[in-house]
Amino acid sequence: MHGTNNTLALIGNTPLVRLAGPSETSGGEIWAKCEFANPGASVKDRAALSIVEDAEEKGLIQPGGTIVEGTAGNTGIGLALVANAKGYKTIIVMPETQSREKMDTLRALGAELVLVPAAPYSNPGHFVHTSRRIAEETENAIWANQFDNVANRRAHITGTAAEIWEQMEGRIDGFTCAAGTGGTLAGVGLGLKEKDERVRIALSDPHGAALYEYYAHGELKSEGSSVAEGIGQGRITANLEGAPIDTQYRISDEEGLEWVRRLLREEGLCLGLSSGINVAGAVRLARELGPGSRVATILCDTGFRYLSTLYNREWLQAKGLPVPDWLAAA
Ligand code: PMP
Repeated sequence: MHGTNNTLALIGNTPLVRLAGPSETSGGEIWAKCEFANPGASVKDRAALSIVEDAEEKGLIQPGGTIVEGTAGNTGIGLALVANAKGYKTIIVMPETQSREKMDTLRALGAELVLVPAAPYSNPGHFVHTSRRIAEETENAIWANQFDNVANRRAHITGTAAEIWEQMEGRIDGFTCAAGTGGTLAGVGLGLKEKDERVRIALSDPHGAALYEYYAHGELKSEGSSVAEGIGQGRITANLEGAPIDTQYRISDEEGLEWVRRLLREEGLCLGLSSGINVAGAVRLARELGPGSRVATILCDTGFRYLSTLYNREWLQAKGLPVPDWLAAA
């Protein structure tokens, strides 16, 4: 890449890496998009930039304006960086159950942070509804609305999917990832199908989400729970509408965590749990597609965002999750 005088041009165009362990385990080739390499260290920088540029093109936001959003954290971090680069303010509403590191990061970036108790979507106090209300009550503000604003998935059609296609030289058999807003899954799915409709698109759903049942049996229904942050959707968001899902997997936290730990110890990657769930899904998809099949997935964010949770012995014990040897001794 040539030098650039535009910091926002650093978003996207992330590296794609072949993962040795998952490839060997599946008998295929697992390729992963390193979204932790974005300036905000997550896949959500792409959606944040796309949403703000869309609002600017539509004349919805004025200089000095405020961007308000409800988020598990990563979209807020992306929006705060984009807003800083463009001269806007940010108000970020987040459930208080999310990692301490994301809250500290948002404060450090200068966002105004509003923490709300975790609540079901049907509750008016849910972080999404709270953020919409704050946007309505704030002068010269827009609501980013990442769940139902399709500028989110457009970033993945024109960006992520096009990059994967190019980086894999058009030789790709399948793609899978989990869904939060569904922007990544639907956007990459639509983008890849546009290139070659035979590319198989799979949902990798955590426990506690309702999409697995929806794509398998047509009914939104959930079971169990997950500690994974940023994923686990209970409804068909506008971003998920028309997503070309061919198959679906339900992945446990234990299975995802095992991959997080293997990728750390064997391949030197420090990741969050949604990345582990995605890799677990990619292994299943490659097995289903047969020996030598080429499957792509997403490494959504950096593990440094979860030092107080996924990488903390006391936290793991409190959640009843296995503690790895090197943390047990620490
Ligand atoms: N992983 C993490 C860590 C996230 O923060 C998000 C975004 N909520 C996702 C995965 C899912 O991305 P999307 O919103 O595009 O479905």
